[in-house]
Amino acid sequence: MKVFVTGGAGYIGTHTLLQLLAAGHELCVFDNFSNASPVALTRVRQLSNRDFDLVEGDIRDAATLRHALADFAPDAVIHFAGLKAVGESNDKPLLYYENNVTGSVNLLAAMDAAGCRRIVFSSSATVYGEAQYLPFDEDHPIAPTNPYGRTKAMVEGVIADWTKATPNASAVLLRYFNPVGAHESGRIGEDPRGIPNNLMPYIAQVAAGRREKLSIFGDDYPTRDGTGERDYIHVVDLAAAHLAALEYAASKTGCEAINVGTGQATTVKELVAAYERASGRSLPVEVIARRSGDVASSCAATAKAADLLRWRSEFGVDAMCESSWRWQSGNPHGFAGD
Ligand code: NAD
Ligand code: UDP
Repeated sequence: MKVFVTGGAGYIGTHTLLQLLAAGHELCVFDNFSNASPVALTRVRQLSNRDFDLVEGDIRDAATLRHALADFAPDAVIHFAGLKAVGESNDKPLLYYENNVTGSVNLLAAMDAAGCRRIVFSSSATVYGEAQYLPFDEDHPIAPTNPYGRTKAMVEGVIADWTKATPNASAVLLRYFNPVGAHESGRIGEDPRGIPNNLMPYIAQVAAGRREKLSIFGDDYPTRDGTGERDYIHVVDLAAAHLAALEYAASKTGCEAINVGTGQATTVKELVAAYERASGRSLPVEVIARRSGDVASSCAATAKAADLLRWRSEFGVDAMCESSWRWQSGNPHGFAGD
């Protein structure tokens, strides 16, 4: 299949490219490198021993996007490109709406012009907002609590409307839970700019000695040990879910939202303990106040993914931490080391 991959140079994108290339797909990556390094793509080429097209461009630039899609004439699009920092989205909401929502509208218009009717979209469990019950199934009410989450919910709606209005269109909205870990080679992984906002990359940098200690945001939640619980999903499992979603989209029409998680919740303290085992290092932590806006627990219902995509996660938290440590210890400064 010819697959056009927006945001393919990023964390989840690069891991997915490797599996797409291994499966024999022909690819065009479209990325503006606003949160990625070209070195990541060089490493994907090395690891896969395969080549692919690259267009450096911005999804907000409708003309460039239209030309890139028309030139490549894809069978399907995987749409990773977007901004993803919750805190930044509170400070710069218009930047988020423009990048994530306008960019996605441009993409669908360019797909229309190129006659492409199949899309797999990177959505997020954050669209559910505060849990009314757990685990979150796909019918849980959608009530995001920040601008980032609202952009994801809006784009889901735009894609659903486009699917209804476009004959033979097919869309899969993948609602990711908490992607972590790295490729087993340790050559690609998550490379956050500045101070990490998320738990796993922060722990990794503490283990590597780049940060002094981890601050645990609250230990008075109604969970096993009082710290927040999340459904961490290995990025390699998540990448595999995209291949399954592509096949599913090729076999039917319409629009489906599907959770991508493991169904297992892990607390902050449990993840720290797993990372200590993986790295062989003891990690200094301090407990501080809750982070505003955080929920106690989040966890995916996984039946729909198993049923429709025939996909299930394989890796547990130990494998997530081991692969993260291989990446972090081998690349202490991420892709900037090259
Ligand atoms: P990432 O920042 O590593 O990757 C996003 C890629 O998109 C980057 O390569 C960036 O340069 C590119 N990009 C951003 N804006 C662009 C634009 N306007 N034009 C062209 N390229 C642009 O993030 P990721 O973790 O790989 O996430 C990929 C997608 O998955 C995002 O849409 C994100 O919102 C979503 N998601 C991520 C998580 C997570 O925890 N990592 C969770 C749920 C959903
Ligand atoms: N967390 C923490 N310290 C940090 C970062 C996160 O204790 O430096 C906690 C956070 O309160 C939550 C969990 O780790 O319970 C996962 O947070 P993350 O930001 O990675 O994911 P999200 O909250 O967006 O699901």
